[in-house]
Amino acid sequence: MKGVVAIVGRANVGKSTLFNRIVGERISIVEDTPGVTRDRIYARASWLTRDFSVIDTGGIELANHDFVKEIRMQAEIAIEEADVIVFVTNGREGVTAEDQMVARILQKSKKPVVLACNKIDDVAFRDNIYDFYSLGIGDPIPVSSSHGIGVGDVLDQVVRLL
Ligand code: GDP
Ligand code: MG
Repeated sequence: MKGVVAIVGRANVGKSTLFNRIVGERISIVEDTPGVTRDRIYARASWLTRDFSVIDTGGIELANHDFVKEIRMQAEIAIEEADVIVFVTNGREGVTAEDQMVARILQKSKKPVVLACNKIDDVAFRDNIYDFYSLGIGDPIPVSSSHGIGVGDVLDQVVRLL
């Protein structure tokens, strides 16, 4: 059965915050995977009637900290492991060259992608999401991972695509 969701995106967009939200909101079904250092990167979660695993690929790091190589590797792991990919961007900063690079890698994979436009903490920032249509991977969903806004909309899309 399908059931692996991977979170990708460049550094500091809020991947781990979103991961914790997805996992934390379904606390009863969460289980830690042993052997994970520092950040937890794998967990079980559920939404509505679906159970799935979530991977925070941002927690899988390269020793030499080459950011471009690192994000490329994270996207490739997501493509290999996941049935659905959640691509997180920073809605406050707009589209960056790194976002475009990730988008191209994901597009080539033909995997289903949910585009989360994070840090939209306030309706005042909502118009920022339109810039993200230019990535060509579907409708950006406004999210505030730190406030817990829009996370349910992301998960609705995720379970539809699983
Ligand atoms: P990651 O590197 O992609 O895993 O990003 P983190 O989850 O570690 O978040 C990076 C920074 O962005 C932290 O300071 C978070 O508190 C902050 N952050 C995450 N989500 C949001 C959000 O929805 N709104 C705002 N304002 N800050 C956020
Ligand atoms: Mg992180």
